Amino acid sequence: MAIPASALLLLIGTSALTYPPATATVHTARFDRVGEPATSAVAVQEGDLPAPAGWEALERGDGAKAAAVFRDALDRSPDNPALHFGAGYAAYLLGRLDASISSLKKALRFDPRFIQAAALLGQVAYERGDLDLAIRSMEKAVALAPHDPLRSQQLARWRREAALHEDLDERPGVRFRVLFEGGAQQPIADRVSAVLERAYWQVGNILNSYPSETLTVLLYTDRQFQDITRAPAWAGGEFDGRIRVAVGGALRTPDALDRVMVHEFVHAAIAALAPRGVPAWVHEGLASVLESDDQAWVSTTLRTTKSRIALDQLAGGFDHLGRDLALVAYAESAVAGRLLIERLGPNLMVFLQMLGSGHTVSQALSTLHVRPEEFDAEWRRRIDK
Ligand SMILES: [Zn+2]
Repeated sequence: MAIPASALLLLIGTSALTYPPATATVHTARFDRVGEPATSAVAVQEGDLPAPAGWEALERGDGAKAAAVFRDALDRSPDNPALHFGAGYAAYLLGRLDASISSLKKALRFDPRFIQAAALLGQVAYERGDLDLAIRSMEKAVALAPHDPLRSQQLARWRREAALHEDLDERPGVRFRVLFEGGAQQPIADRVSAVLERAYWQVGNILNSYPSETLTVLLYTDRQFQDITRAPAWAGGEFDGRIRVAVGGALRTPDALDRVMVHEFVHAAIAALAPRGVPAWVHEGLASVLESDDQAWVSTTLRTTKSRIALDQLAGGFDHLGRDLALVAYAESAVAGRLLIERLGPNLMVFLQMLGSGHTVSQALSTLHVRPEEFDAEWRRRIDK
């Protein structure tokens, strides 16, 4: 059964299917990015689609509910491409990338002209680290709908990235696979591997998260980093399913390099517990606190500026802030991250998992016997000191 595009009442905003990936992208004044899904980009018109409750759940960002609805519907109509697409989208929201890829491939098997399925498959494959499949799928989407400039630009970027990676050397490992420009970068790659091995256990001990998938780490020159990530000039690293770090410039100093690597690994460890739903200030706060014992920059930053930003303004990322305000955002987040570690202790893992399954910070704190008002008051007291 083929679904004509007009009858496909699922209108996916282009933002969900273009770079930055629907997951990733919290940003970092000092370093990186992490991501959030563009769930609101799924707009559903009720009516003709099968399993309307599934699309409604997707629209709300409730991946678990959507997955259950589509699973039931597929029991009755196992050949329906729209249902496989819905199941693929739900799995994606839940961070189950392999399951999502499998469902989206089925959607395309039953309807080879299913543009949205091809584009989403490209994106999920990219996040899964399968650049070849990402490119092949997006090529299909672009061929089916040649007039979507965003998808074409996305495809062009992925092709550039693939061409660049072909030239990189690899330092293989069980937990970390480090790609780098050969020769002069070999010592940096060795150091990065050693730092990450230590971080794996140290960070794991605090978050109770030990990612099982091999994590890809890409060491770029500054120019390559800008080109591939389109991060602002002040960012030196990012995490979008892979750790990407610019190893030129300031990061030539070993201490700064170590910090950035640990920082980005914290994002990876959080994402392994909660692929979605973690506010930027939680991500950045924990990453900033755990990156190094030296936290002097936090009090220095807060002492030298009067600007303050409420935490709920920092849920979606720091991209929109200029360099100076972004630094304040990191410092405030670091204070909050420290407070989370103090108040939650071993419950930090449960806290993150609750955020990942759709609870708000207040709900998760209350459930774990931390009063949100008290948390907020103590955070304010510390940032205003
Ligand atoms: Zn970060």
